[in-house]
Amino acid sequence: MPEQENRYREKLLERGLKVTRQRLALLAALNQSDTPLTAEELFMRLRKDFATLSLSTIYRTLDTLCGKQMVARSVLMDGGRAMFEMTPEVHCHNLICTVCHRIVPIQDCPLGAYEDSIARTTGYKISGHKLEVYGICPQCRNNFKPRE
Ligand SMILES: [Zn+2]
Ligand SMILES: [Zn+2]
Repeated sequence: MPEQENRYREKLLERGLKVTRQRLALLAALNQSDTPLTAEELFMRLRKDFATLSLSTIYRTLDTLCGKQMVARSVLMDGGRAMFEMTPEVHCHNLICTVCHRIVPIQDCPLGAYEDSIARTTGYKISGHKLEVYGICPQCRNNFKPRE
């Protein structure tokens, strides 16, 4: 989708990053996926188009894009596996099921006042926050109901 590619191109340039085919392909892969992906999953998806691609290149690219807030990293609790997704255009928090790893974005943010008070007490100019909420989704809870 060339229109989308142009948007990524602009976003990269705005952040002072070089536009490379690999970066564009990685962003497109994240965008196409309904769920966040691990670096390994991204590697599997991109490998066929980039013969010389290595997993460490994927990690480096993700680091760069996370550093510029184009990609968000969330770490799941079990084994600390990191998952990556496009930074949502709308601020939201993730509700993560620890059993099936389904992620539901919650758009409600209760932390505005909290940020203000931190800014006041520390003198920081706050640029954002991340909050992940863990639990077991209704479907998984049903599966684990003890039998009578
Ligand atoms: Zn679940
Ligand atoms: Zn928030």
